[in-house]
Amino acid sequence: MSDHRPPESFLRKLSKVFIPLWGIRAGLYLTAQHLFKRKFTVQYPEQRIEIDPSYRGKLSLLTEPGNNADICISCQQCAKICPVECIHIIPTVDEKKKRHVGTFDVDLAKCLFCGLCEDICPEFCIVLDPLYDYSSYSRDGLYLTVEGLSRNADDEEWRAMREVKEKKKREAEAKKKAREAAAAEKKKEG
Ligand code: SF4
Ligand code: SF4
Repeated sequence: MSDHRPPESFLRKLSKVFIPLWGIRAGLYLTAQHLFKRKFTVQYPEQRIEIDPSYRGKLSLLTEPGNNADICISCQQCAKICPVECIHIIPTVDEKKKRHVGTFDVDLAKCLFCGLCEDICPEFCIVLDPLYDYSSYSRDGLYLTVEGLSRNADDEEWRAMREVKEKKKREAEAKKKAREAAAAEKKKEG
């Protein structure tokens, strides 16, 4: 069967060669432009980028530095405020009626990383660490018990926690005193 297509014009032949060459030239130009610029890629996992401390990543339950003692008082406020109910706590109570961490599980597959648990904790011991690579091949791998959640607070965190707690205590005492003074004044007037 004979080919009845008209012969290709010289310009069309030229464009078939020129267009790919132009594309290669543009690509090489872009590569050359970035060759001596600062690199943004890192050799993960050997190299890791620094994450902003405010990044909300993996949940951790802080323990006292050094002796690993519980800071959490099992008050359950974090579990109550969690919008997806992914925190499960069963406290243990000692002979002095003091609460301790018994069961403390978090289903990270459900967690929204909203930070509400972190904000409400009266002991500042539940934190969203700036850790992002803890994925798992199964949902069960994201269900963390107290062993997977516990992390020793570092000295700086511990000092900051104590300072904030002391400040809140002083503020609460000042408010209580002001309320009592106002009530006494009202009583005197009445
Ligand atoms: S970050 Fe939000 S969703 Fe996740 S456990 Fe805390 S309160 Fe629940
Ligand atoms: S709010 Fe804080 S102290 Fe209370 S149970 Fe949760 S982590 Fe523990």
